[in-house]
Amino acid sequence: MLFAHDTTAALTLATDLVNTARVDPAAGQARLDTAPVDKAWAETALANIARDRAATAPVGGARADDTLTSVAALDVFLDQRHITPRRPATPADLSAVRALRPRLRAVWQASGPEELAAVVNRLLRDSGARPWLVDHGGGWGWHLHVTEPSAPLAHRIGAQAGFAFADLVRLGETERLRPCDAPDCAAVLIDLSRNRSRRYCDTGNCGNRQHVAAYRARHTALPATPP
Ligand SMILES: [Zn+2]
Ligand SMILES: [Zn+2]
Repeated sequence: MLFAHDTTAALTLATDLVNTARVDPAAGQARLDTAPVDKAWAETALANIARDRAATAPVGGARADDTLTSVAALDVFLDQRHITPRRPATPADLSAVRALRPRLRAVWQASGPEELAAVVNRLLRDSGARPWLVDHGGGWGWHLHVTEPSAPLAHRIGAQAGFAFADLVRLGETERLRPCDAPDCAAVLIDLSRNRSRRYCDTGNCGNRQHVAAYRARHTALPATPP
């Protein structure tokens, strides 16, 4: 295990939350990847991408660049990540969690360790972090809760993220916080792989898109008639 389970969960939650606001992955120029791809695989991948786009395309042609626009969406987001126990989200929670997103993204955008530490310190301070050990069942065992049980949702998320980022800083592991390697993607990732080999985010099928772009580039580079 790389990090404590609650640290891993908080890092994943912060990453997913930042990625609920992102730019359209269809915009921008594709950079080429050199990984080999066979034709059948590429055609299947292209079909999957088209199907995913069709399934998630918003009505009226608006860009799907923010998926956290209602209290219901926030509750679904938190349920999917097993943020329990908690009260149902409120409109105030939604505004506060949305306001937290750029502050979390700032961790990925920090220009160096000083700025990163300052961003994390502000997260900890403003969330009223107050750590205490708890074992409330549910298979987590002993772990840290970092805010009062009655704390607002955004404070809870901010404090959890603050502690998890602080762990990365203390362990010298902040290079695991990276932007997605796809040039047309603004999402971020937390690389929890043992050998730090992760390149693409979870949000936009970016790994597949990059391989397909590489395949297309090689295919169109071939001469029209064989020599
Ligand atoms: Zn707990
Ligand atoms: Zn991406």
